[in-house]
Amino acid sequence: MNPTSESFNTSFGKSTASRSGVDIFACYQCEKCTNGCPLTFAMDVMPHALIRMAQVGMADEVRASRTPWVCASCETCVTRCPNLVDVPRLMDFLKQDAAESGAAPVEPDVAAFHATFMDNIRLFGRVQETVLMGIYQLKSLHGPGDLASPNVIENVKLGLKMVGKGRMSLIPRISGKLRDRVRKLF
Ligand code: SF4
Ligand code: SF4
Repeated sequence: MNPTSESFNTSFGKSTASRSGVDIFACYQCEKCTNGCPLTFAMDVMPHALIRMAQVGMADEVRASRTPWVCASCETCVTRCPNLVDVPRLMDFLKQDAAESGAAPVEPDVAAFHATFMDNIRLFGRVQETVLMGIYQLKSLHGPGDLASPNVIENVKLGLKMVGKGRMSLIPRISGKLRDRVRKLF
């Protein structure tokens, strides 16, 4: 995916840098991020290339990439980057940007998890695993028939086991103070 001369438009790059807080123009394409990333096998665009595409204004291509959705935020890339470009933070921003742009989710299940996770944090101020997994499970169904699928049954059994062992609680623990502080961040 090589940018053509007519696609050079840095406004998308500038707005990405200012909205994400990541100085993408500090990237000089040394590829150390990509060479250390453990998830490149699942990506369609390598991390360094995605940054270049953002710099030169390839907004549609960046929003259509599955790379931000499979990034695990492990931070290997940012620790290797000589310019401290915060790639995981950028990936997080690009997920949000793609969702806000109305583009069809490239990875619907990951997009459903991301949206459910963010709603969970906004609502409770921290992750409430039981609510998170229950809603995510419902959102990721592809039809009513999926309710009885082996995957769902296994997940329900696992969830009940974890509740039984005290690893998850059925009743959300809510701290009003924490919730208010997190809401301010949003
Ligand atoms: S390691 Fe940093 S400077 Fe090098 S390509 Fe990746 S983001 Fe750019
Ligand atoms: S944070 Fe994402 S892009 Fe960076 S190394 Fe980890 S998986 Fe790769």
